[in-house]
Amino acid sequence: LTRNEIIEILKSPVAQEGTSFSDTDNSLFTAATATARALFNSTVFQRGLIEFSSYCRKNCHYCGLRSSNTELLRYRLTHDEIMQAVDNAHALGMGTIVLQAGEDEDVNPHFVYTVVRAIKEKYNLAVTLSLGDHPDDVYRLWRDSGADRYLLKIETSDSDLYSLYRPGEHLYDRLNRIETLQRLGYETCSGIIIGLPGMTAETLTDDLLLLSSMGLDMIACGPFIPHPQTPLRHAEQGRLVESLRVTALLRLANPAANIPAISALDSLSIIKKNEGRVLALNAGANVIMPSITPDDVRSRYAIYPGKNDPACTGHAAVKQLQHQVQQAGFTLSSQAGSSMR
Ligand code: SAM
Ligand code: SF4
Repeated sequence: LTRNEIIEILKSPVAQEGTSFSDTDNSLFTAATATARALFNSTVFQRGLIEFSSYCRKNCHYCGLRSSNTELLRYRLTHDEIMQAVDNAHALGMGTIVLQAGEDEDVNPHFVYTVVRAIKEKYNLAVTLSLGDHPDDVYRLWRDSGADRYLLKIETSDSDLYSLYRPGEHLYDRLNRIETLQRLGYETCSGIIIGLPGMTAETLTDDLLLLSSMGLDMIACGPFIPHPQTPLRHAEQGRLVESLRVTALLRLANPAANIPAISALDSLSIIKKNEGRVLALNAGANVIMPSITPDDVRSRYAIYPGKNDPACTGHAAVKQLQHQVQQAGFTLSSQAGSSMR
């Protein structure tokens, strides 16, 4: 598709708000899921997300973990607590562990090194790190520990919006870091937030084209969900149909990439439980990444409202999601689901 054709798709009329879609959208989603089903044999890879620290030195305007949010009760897991969560993830059939956190200055890089080593020694699981911006030698240390993948989103390809929402930061630094991760041999994942204020169909198209040109192994795109303790508290949430269109277009442009059904989809106000992630699988996604963070702290990893619902245990939430994914005709895989590239 050309840039103009993508813009036209992104601007095309929406059937109605909710979970019914226009014929054009349904054709797009069907083509994308058919591509994914053919390549991955209708398999969905499962990554267990362990959110081990909610401390962050950064102040991103969109995120509830931002350092200026003094209302958040912060936590940091110990080595043993993380390993307990890894045991749970393994028992639930996850083939990958994703270690995610805010940029916590009190977590020593060697702590992450020993955790990755311990996971690798205990289980044959792939390990993805999602720990934000760090110096090259830290990325090298973690790669040496055995970490297989790194997730670092560009968030937006618009450098002005990037610097606006990530004070003091520049898009070119983020892009350089992604290249460093690729050079170090990580399977590399990037992505965007869909529907941040100021984003247009043109911005999204440029995001899509940039992400598709980066040689990524995984591409993660989910809707913006406003958080009440951030400067974007009054902004509108991202639109479901836009997220699904982007997911489908990314699948068609990057057939072999791993594309997760992002949990933020289930925090959209129009969505019933887990329906958003199932819709994304039916629009070309092939990965789920449920939170396996311990129950006593998981609701405090409050990036956006609705993440890690305290009304439900992590175990029950995973079981329910797994059931819904199977009901939708997908086979759950406990394999690592490494990059086809
Ligand atoms: N601190 C690391 C970083 O920023 O890469 C990893 C953790 S950060 C919470 C993970 C992702 O959460 C970010 O890349 C961003 O895309 C997403 N995120 C943060 N706030 C969000 C919001 N309000 N709505 C949707 N996604 C959000
Ligand atoms: Fe920190 Fe990441 Fe949230 Fe930014 S997006 S405030 S770096 S946790």
